[in-house]
Amino acid sequence: MPRGRNAGNKGQGSKWITKVRRRRIYARDGHRCVYCGELAEKLTLDHVIPRCKGGSNVTENLVTACDKCNRERGDTSVTEFLSARPEMAFLVLHAMTSPLPEVKP
Ligand SMILES: [Zn+2]
Repeated sequence: MPRGRNAGNKGQGSKWITKVRRRRIYARDGHRCVYCGELAEKLTLDHVIPRCKGGSNVTENLVTACDKCNRERGDTSVTEFLSARPEMAFLVLHAMTSPLPEVKP
């Protein structure tokens, strides 16, 4: 693997996931935040199980979240976060268990 060009990009940057995979996850979730159902302008990927708690970057652990919900959730467990909005739990589950659609490169 060539190093150098992206060497300055560390931590939570956008390099941990490819653009296409990110877009496929957004497409899978209908470009809506799974926590509030908003068609958010600024979408983020949220780890259902936070990385600090052993969650990985597998597709099943990643859901689309708006910037607001992502911040609001922080490191709260998804169970705790969803207990305040139980009607959204099915969306999160649906997102986690659906296959990724193909997107145009
Ligand atoms: Zn949201």
